[in-house]
Amino acid sequence: MDKIIIEARVNELATRQENPNVPFIPAEIIRDAKACYDEGASILHYHGRTATGEPEHAASFYLETNAGIRAQCPILVHPTLGYVANDADAMGRFAAVEEMMKDPITAPDFAPMDVGTVNVDWWDPDKNSYTTTNLVYENSTETLMHFADRIKHHGLKQYLVSWNVSFTRQIEAFMKMGVIPAPAYVCFCMTDGISLSGHPGTPEGLDAHIAFLPKDREMIWTAVNYKGNLLLLTEKIIKAGGHISIGLGDYPYLEYGTPTNADIIAKVVEQARALDREPATVEETREILGMNKVRAAA
Ligand code: ZN
Repeated sequence: MDKIIIEARVNELATRQENPNVPFIPAEIIRDAKACYDEGASILHYHGRTATGEPEHAASFYLETNAGIRAQCPILVHPTLGYVANDADAMGRFAAVEEMMKDPITAPDFAPMDVGTVNVDWWDPDKNSYTTTNLVYENSTETLMHFADRIKHHGLKQYLVSWNVSFTRQIEAFMKMGVIPAPAYVCFCMTDGISLSGHPGTPEGLDAHIAFLPKDREMIWTAVNYKGNLLLLTEKIIKAGGHISIGLGDYPYLEYGTPTNADIIAKVVEQARALDREPATVEETREILGMNKVRAAA
């Protein structure tokens, strides 16, 4: 079977209360990038965080982190645009990427587009109540078209996130319009525990995503379980020909001790190899996702 692309999602908005190995500051993210690369990850996704774990949107954070990663290893870099933590308008949410693109040393390889809008309030399953009530992850069609335009301008690869089937339908519509070029790289977002925003992190939740892959469009998919244990699904994903996006940003993985991000990547690599799928190198990942073509056309 095809090689498998493994992405390390190292921090998101995760705290250190459960697993203290979540990286926050650039030096910690750079250290994890190298360690995950050494274990077989070819993509790194991270969020800017302050030393105490608050969201950090300053472009300087991304410039320092990307340059530091580039000095350590060739892992492909996929920074956030800020999620709901960044309430700037569309232009503002892309501002850090514009800064990063000024120098090849600080340029990322992907920019994300969550292709739809979703309520992302935190759910408390013990109390059966919401702990927030106004977190909307808003991505209007106009905003997404602006992102697509800037991503194309810079020769970056779109990292498309589908939180539910309606997102996948908009991805298909954008492909028909030429806003999203083929092959599209789509992350099927599942959520568990304190997040109800995606499909459930179960075989059925994943199947429902896969069932709506357009038959006549070239879409390559990876899967994530935000706030849930993706390792319960990785065998299914590997056998189904999907790719895997995983890390302490999504879930602390305390079932396996107090692992680091690299420990989680090592587990996935071991399982993939046992199921006859070698991890894709950085160059193979670029090839699978048509990234050389994107850059050449920019
Ligand atoms: Zn993220």
